[in-house]
Amino acid sequence: MTVGVILEKKGTDVATVMPDQSVLEVSQKLAELKIGAIVVTSEPGVVAGIVSERDIVRVIAEKGAATLNLPVCDVMTEKVVTCEPGETINDLMEKMTAGRFRHVPVVKDGKLVGIVSIGDVVKMRIQEIETEAGALKSYIASA
Ligand code: AMP
Repeated sequence: MTVGVILEKKGTDVATVMPDQSVLEVSQKLAELKIGAIVVTSEPGVVAGIVSERDIVRVIAEKGAATLNLPVCDVMTEKVVTCEPGETINDLMEKMTAGRFRHVPVVKDGKLVGIVSIGDVVKMRIQEIETEAGALKSYIASA
């Protein structure tokens, strides 16, 4: 099972913000879209960073409410781990576990083509396990 299969199901839309947008604007967008992280792009399709709720909470804890007026590039993670559509879900889970993050942008030929969250991965694994269990049950019943 590959990352591309997840994208076929969930679609390729990715919410993005510009590096100079304020942390307040980005927080509002995260709340409005009900998502936990957003990709920062300096030009369309080119990943410049990622910012998650955790980054915002951490900087508010350090600097207080003034954080809300900072540009998001001041709080984002710049070294973004990405994956490609052809990568397996197992490889993706290893990246998430090793890096301790729950979101991975999907990049093809240097361009952003999707994003996968830990929730997407868990949903896909459950479906896979249920399909396997169903196949085993009908095999046993027909034996
Ligand atoms: P998350 O678990 O995705 O909410 O993110 C936890 C931390 O990891 C935050 O500091 C994020 O900015 C960072 N982060 C999230 N996704 C990635 C990624 N794909 N590559 C690198 N850092 C990330």
